[in-house]
Amino acid sequence: MTSQTRTLTQEDTAPVATVGPPHRILQNYIGGRWVLAKTSAFVDVTNPANGEVLARAPLSGCEDVEAAVAAASAAWPDWRSRSVGERTEFIYALREKFRERIDELAASVTREGGKVLSDARAEVSRAIEVIEVACASPMTMQGRVLEGVARGINSETIRQSVGVCAAITPFNFPAMVPMWFLPFAIVCGNTFVLKPSEQVPLTSELIGHILQDIGLPPGVVNIVYGAHDAVNAILDSPGIRAVSFVGSVTTAKYIYRRAAENGKRVQALGGAKNYMIVMPDAVVDKTVSNVLGSAFGNAGQRCMAGSVLVTVGSAQTKIMGRLKEEAEKLIAGDGTDPKVSLGPVISNAACDRIHEAIETGVREGAELFVDGRLPKHVPAGGNWVGPTILTNVKPGMRAATDEIFGPVLSVMHVDTLDEAIDLVNRDPRGNGTSIFTENGAAVREYSRRVEVGMVGVNIGVAASPAYFPFSGWKDSFFGDLHVHGWDAVEFFTRKKTVTSRYFSAGETGKYFVEQGDKK
Ligand code: NAD
Repeated sequence: MTSQTRTLTQEDTAPVATVGPPHRILQNYIGGRWVLAKTSAFVDVTNPANGEVLARAPLSGCEDVEAAVAAASAAWPDWRSRSVGERTEFIYALREKFRERIDELAASVTREGGKVLSDARAEVSRAIEVIEVACASPMTMQGRVLEGVARGINSETIRQSVGVCAAITPFNFPAMVPMWFLPFAIVCGNTFVLKPSEQVPLTSELIGHILQDIGLPPGVVNIVYGAHDAVNAILDSPGIRAVSFVGSVTTAKYIYRRAAENGKRVQALGGAKNYMIVMPDAVVDKTVSNVLGSAFGNAGQRCMAGSVLVTVGSAQTKIMGRLKEEAEKLIAGDGTDPKVSLGPVISNAACDRIHEAIETGVREGAELFVDGRLPKHVPAGGNWVGPTILTNVKPGMRAATDEIFGPVLSVMHVDTLDEAIDLVNRDPRGNGTSIFTENGAAVREYSRRVEVGMVGVNIGVAASPAYFPFSGWKDSFFGDLHVHGWDAVEFFTRKKTVTSRYFSAGETGKYFVEQGDKK
C-alpha cells in the first residue's frame, strides 16, 4: 500500500450520504489494488433503459490521479526492461480472456450504456481485433539499420517506450475505445492510466479484473474514475508523457491545447457530423438498410453515425418512401430484448437535448418525416427517443450543424455530386462519410475530394479495421498520429538513433576499420 492509497474498511463501504438505497461504490485500480478514491464526490451510474442505479463512481481528484501516476512510474523500469516477447504474452492472454468473457463484457456494455446486445458483442469483437493487432508488436516495433553511413560506421534507429501514458475515453464504446490504446501502450513498454467516462465505469472495472486475472504486474495499468478534475490532473501531471483522448469536439480541442502546452504528445479525437451521399444509381434496398444501420445503430450515439443523408438528383424520389417504411419497423427498447433494434440514449440530459434538437428542427422548417419522439412499449424510467427522420433540412439549420448524437437523421437534397462534396467540405468536422453508387468515377471523385478521414463506398459510415489507422480530419481530430493500425506504435514509442563504430582490431587485426576492410 502506498501512502496515497488505502484499502477498503468497513466504514468506507457504507454508502455516501445520498438519497435512495445504498449502492456499491467503485474503487480505483492503482498499483494492482482496488482502492477508495480520496474524494467525497460521487456520481450515480445508471442503466439508461430503466434508470436503475447500478453503482456509484467516485469523482477522483488530483491526489488519486497522482497515486496512479506514481504506481505507473514505479512499474515502468521493470516493465520496459522485459523482452517484447514477454510483454506480448500478456497481450495474448488479454485477448484470450476477452474471448472467454465476451458475453459478460457485452452484458456490461448494454447494462450501463444501453446499446442492444448484438451491438455490444460487436463492440467487444472490435476490441478483440485491436488487441490481436497489438500482438504483432515484435514486428511493428522494429527499428531500422543502415550499414556504412560512413566507413565502418552504422546508424540504427530503435524504438523505446515513452513512459506513463494516459487515455481519457467517452461513454459510447466502454469496451472498445480503451482497447484502442491500452494494449499498444503497454506492449510497447509504457505503463498506463485509464480514465473512463464517468457515465460507464463498470466495463472498465471488469477490464481491471481481467488484467488482474492475467497477472499483469501491478502498476502497469491503473484505472481512475472521475470527470473534469481527474482529466485536468492528467493533463497537468508532470509524470504523464502522452495523452490519448476520445470525446466531443469541444473537449478534444481543450485536451489537445492543455496537454500540448504541458509538453505531452497528444492524440485527441473529437465529435462528428457524418454525411451519407446517395447517388441516383444506388442500389435501393442495400442503401436503405445501410443508411438505417448507420443512422440508428447504438441509437445514433456513434462518432461514425451517419447523421446526414444527402440525396443527389433523382435519388430522392427513389429512396425516401422505402426509407420511411423501413425506419418505422425499427423497435426501440431494452437492449437485452433480442427483438429490439435500438436501445435508450445514455442519460436523461442527453434525451432532453435530443428532443429539443428535434423540436428546433421543426421550428426551423424541417419536416418530421418519421416521428420517434414517443416510442411505444418502452420500459418506464428509461431515456427514450425512437428513430426520427427530419427532411427538408437546409444548411445552417441546427439539424444540419449540431452533432445531435441520438437517433435523428437529417435529410438534405442537392442536384449534383459537386454540390454534395461542397456540403461535406463546408462542415468543420470530417470524421467519416459514405457514398452509395455503382459508378466508379463518382466514387473516385468523391473519395479524392472530400476532407474526411474515413470514407465508405456502399457501406454504412465505415470505421477503419484495427490494422489500419482510425481517425477523422479537421475538428474531428487534433494531433498527428491516428489510432491503431501502424500509427499506434508510432504514437507509443520514441525513436532513438544510435550511430556507432568500433576501433578494436579484432582477433586477427584485419578488421581494424581505419585501415579499411578489403573483405
Ligand atoms: P465528452 O467529451 O463529454 O467526454 C469524453 C471524456 O472527457 C469523458 O471521460 C469525460 O469525463 C471527459 N470530459 C468531458 N468534458 C470535459 C471537460 N470539460 N473537461 C475535462 N474532461 C471532460 O464525450 P462523451 O459525451 O462521453 O462522448 C460522445 C462524444 O465523443 C461525441 O461527440 C462523439 O462523436 C465523440 N466520439 C468520438 C470518437 C472518434 O473516434 N472521433 C469516438 C467515440 C466518441
